[in-house]
Amino acid sequence: MARTDAIVLGAGIVGTSTALQLARRGLGVALVDRRGPGEETSYGNAGIIEGNTIFPPAFPSRLKALARIALRRAPEASYHLGHLPPAAPWLMAFFAASRPRRLVETARIIRPLFARALPEHELLLAEAGASGYLRREGWLKLYRSDAAFAGLGPELALADEFGIAYRTLDPEGARALEPHLAPVFRHAVHWPGAASVSNPLAVTRAYAARLTHLGGVILSGNAHSLHRAEGRWRIDTAAGPIDAPEVVAALGPFAPELLAPLGIELPLGIKRGYHLHFRSAGNAALSRPVVDIENGYCLAPMEQGIRLTTGAEFAARTAPPTPVQLDRLLPDARALFPLAEPVEAAPWMGCRPCFADSRPVIGRAPGHPGLWLAYGHGHWGLTLGPATGRLLAEMMTGATPFCDPAPYGAERFRH
Ligand SMILES: Cc1cc2nc3c(=O)[nH]c(=O)nc-3n(C[C@H](O)[C@H](O)[C@H](O)COP(=O)(O)OP(=O)(O)OC[C@H]3O[C@@H](n4cnc5c(N)ncnc54)[C@H](O)[C@@H]3O)c2cc1C
Repeated sequence: MARTDAIVLGAGIVGTSTALQLARRGLGVALVDRRGPGEETSYGNAGIIEGNTIFPPAFPSRLKALARIALRRAPEASYHLGHLPPAAPWLMAFFAASRPRRLVETARIIRPLFARALPEHELLLAEAGASGYLRREGWLKLYRSDAAFAGLGPELALADEFGIAYRTLDPEGARALEPHLAPVFRHAVHWPGAASVSNPLAVTRAYAARLTHLGGVILSGNAHSLHRAEGRWRIDTAAGPIDAPEVVAALGPFAPELLAPLGIELPLGIKRGYHLHFRSAGNAALSRPVVDIENGYCLAPMEQGIRLTTGAEFAARTAPPTPVQLDRLLPDARALFPLAEPVEAAPWMGCRPCFADSRPVIGRAPGHPGLWLAYGHGHWGLTLGPATGRLLAEMMTGATPFCDPAPYGAERFRH
């Protein structure tokens, strides 16, 4: 029987970062996945390390935007009609969490975790010899209407309070940063403190390689084989069974399938998203991710091409892909930036694992000694992977956590 100090289930950016943070603290770690590291949700994101985040994504407050979504004409959000009844409790909780006062509360609560996001990536990237993937050009948010830009007041006031740098720009100012953008927008905000990576899959793989360098092992196995044996947690892998006193469930959107049979039923929602890579026309290029706020898409320069990512689709995780948002937003995206032909024949789809209060769960699993949870990172899994791993590793090793873990506890859903 192979034994180790900790087993981490799920080799997405969250699980891989957690395994690495544990190994850096001297623990023996087995990272278990049924696929290769970073090949699920963590493969397809926009690559933004969004440590400057202030407000989480919110339920639309403008009637026009809501009506557009309800009529399924919006590029920024879509839904499967049959998914609305099961998603209704989550949507109600999301609506409640989107009240202006709650958004400000959330912004204050999550700040310490987000403040560590980029420094932890920088550290892990440097140790993994992968700093070449990191761009420190910030990101650029574009506003097509004066109304949308005017709504930024509370966010910018909090940025001032938190000491987060930003620059409001007119179209010419934005085009000085990104000369190939067409002036189809009226305002822009540059957040220079954000960073991005040119290949999220390669980053997770680099963290996984660093883990093995530190003595950790990566094993192929099904997380659902987890069980108690001889007072420890045991998992079956292709290399045989392995057990440990501590196990971390970092299964992203797949976590409920492991946890529900254990009686851990936390209200995780799914926001599906798509991406497609495009070649640029002529010599057009982008230096940083650019977000068209009202249309909810991002153009992110990647090694594979310009990655066009979509906003949220409310649908069951396992329902067939319906990338209608890509069709809706492509004309606007092409008017903004000269996209040439797509690189792939079909878009990629992934599922953001989201709690309605926009906070992940990081901490102990109630009622299961030795079982820890690290999932539900929604729009920010890439951003928060290494900071999550550090927080959890500190909790698991009895060190003083760098921030208060209470807001991320599973217990918050008992109320
Ligand atoms: C379109 C889009 C754009 C995004 N843009 C950004 C962005 O710019 N910045 C940002 O910070 N975040 C972004 N995100 C969010 C981010 O990608 C996710 O939050 C993050 O990838 C979640 O990581 P994870 O490790 O929790 O989950 P995953 O990457 O899904 O990892 C879970 C792992 O568990 C494994 N697994 C599942 N079930 C089992 C099982 N039974 N047995 C063994 N293994 C199993 C899977 O194979 C997988 O490797 C975006 C998401 C989308 C969809």
